[in-house]
Amino acid sequence: MKAVLFEHFREAPSIRNVPDPKPSTDGVVIKVEATGLCRSDWHGWMGHDADIVLPHVPGHELAGTVQAVGRQVTQWRVGDRVTVPFVGGCGHCHECNSGNHQVCEQQFQPGFTAWGSFAEYVAIDYADTNLVRLPEELDFVTAASLGCRFVTSFRAIVDQAKVLPGEWVAVHGCGGVGLSAIMIATAMGANVVAIDLTEEKLAFARELGAVATVNGAEQDVVAAVKEITKGGAHVSVDALGHPSTCFNSIANLRRRGRHVQVGLMLGDHATPQVPMDKVIAHELQIVGSHGMQAFRYKAMMDMLETGKLKPQKLVGKRISLAEAPVALMQMDRFDGTGISVVDRF
Ligand SMILES: [Zn+2]
Ligand SMILES: [Zn+2]
Repeated sequence: MKAVLFEHFREAPSIRNVPDPKPSTDGVVIKVEATGLCRSDWHGWMGHDADIVLPHVPGHELAGTVQAVGRQVTQWRVGDRVTVPFVGGCGHCHECNSGNHQVCEQQFQPGFTAWGSFAEYVAIDYADTNLVRLPEELDFVTAASLGCRFVTSFRAIVDQAKVLPGEWVAVHGCGGVGLSAIMIATAMGANVVAIDLTEEKLAFARELGAVATVNGAEQDVVAAVKEITKGGAHVSVDALGHPSTCFNSIANLRRRGRHVQVGLMLGDHATPQVPMDKVIAHELQIVGSHGMQAFRYKAMMDMLETGKLKPQKLVGKRISLAEAPVALMQMDRFDGTGISVVDRF
């Protein structure tokens, strides 16, 4: 099969012919029909992820058709249309038994702990626990755009922050994570303030439901959010993953506010400054969001089906596998709006 492969970190990946994958006994092989590009792929390529063993094939936001099934798999058949969350739980550790597959102790992550979906086929372990059936009307490109940023934002807003109607939600960074969070928080009945450095992204944020925007290149972000929300946000999300957005997101909360860290903090950014004085004095909460369990897709899929959520609006460029290596190396540049998806292999 064709795959995007790199042999060394920070060296240009190339399209190679590699052996087709075989399913593990509890896994499947999926024919990849669409796969999204993400900044975590860029982090992986830079060498920021300790799970990656070289040579490596990246890609973790996928949708496709089951092509082969391991002998212990009971729930899935060849031809099923599926997607997976980017963290696959093993299904039998303590965390999985408590329903928290997103922090499984032996998690399977395509494109990190194993070869990923920038290829014609991808092997996925723990299939019975993690595969999600696609509704007939959901196209592969939209389905691929769900697996990482959209589901992590869904968990951040719905399950972690437990956003309530009428609350003020500040979203720092209007890339894939941020735009997803804006759409989901708006659907939950919250008032969203979007923060970014470019007017183009802020305009898109308003289209998706943000009731106010702050341009961090021109305004003091914390002061502006506190003024708009008359005292501070109830919930604030660092959707970018940077020490400055993390700090602002905590500092712009009102008393007893909840900060959710969704943007990845890796490499030099792993230990950011936190206004811990305010965390104590104002009883702030700081929580993370790391993917979402496959069984929680049901609620999200129902909101897609009824039109409450429209993730297809977040899909930006559609590209070919041949274009993926260059696109991957440029993922730290933040230009353009929406999620790029490979849909030709
Ligand atoms: Zn991702
Ligand atoms: Zn587990």
